[in-house]
Amino acid sequence: MSIFTKIINGEIPAYKVAEDDNFLAFLDINPNAKGHTLCIPKREINKIFDMDEAAYLELMRFSRKVAKALERTVPCKRIGMAVVGLEVPHVHVHLIPLQDMEDMRFVRKTSLSETEFEALAKAIHQNM
Ligand code: 5GP
Repeated sequence: MSIFTKIINGEIPAYKVAEDDNFLAFLDINPNAKGHTLCIPKREINKIFDMDEAAYLELMRFSRKVAKALERTVPCKRIGMAVVGLEVPHVHVHLIPLQDMEDMRFVRKTSLSETEFEALAKAIHQNM
């Protein structure tokens, strides 16, 4: 079972941003930039291009909705999107508020307090 399935099952906590029957968005715990959000399918699958086409398109639709809310919440030049999956073998779309190219490199990290994470997740949710 992936760590993200444990989040879905409520076995480990996450700062949730949005949820529907099939998808969940929550803040990345080690963010590239403030607002870095992950969108995942609740059905655990390792690689994004192994998803069936309908589920893949639904994930994109869900991620777009979250990205729009993120852009309304966090000041940035634009929202970057990436799919990597080398660390967690459960499909996740990274949505990252960008100021510069460094924000897409997964090297420069930022840290937020618990209170900041909570406030941010709530603010993005309210902008959905
Ligand atoms: P990737 O698999 O795309 O290389 O990266 C996995 C991402 O998931 C990383 O950005 C990492 O910070 C994030 N991550 C790993 N474990 C957890 C967790 O338990 N909770 C949250 N919110 N994010 C996590």
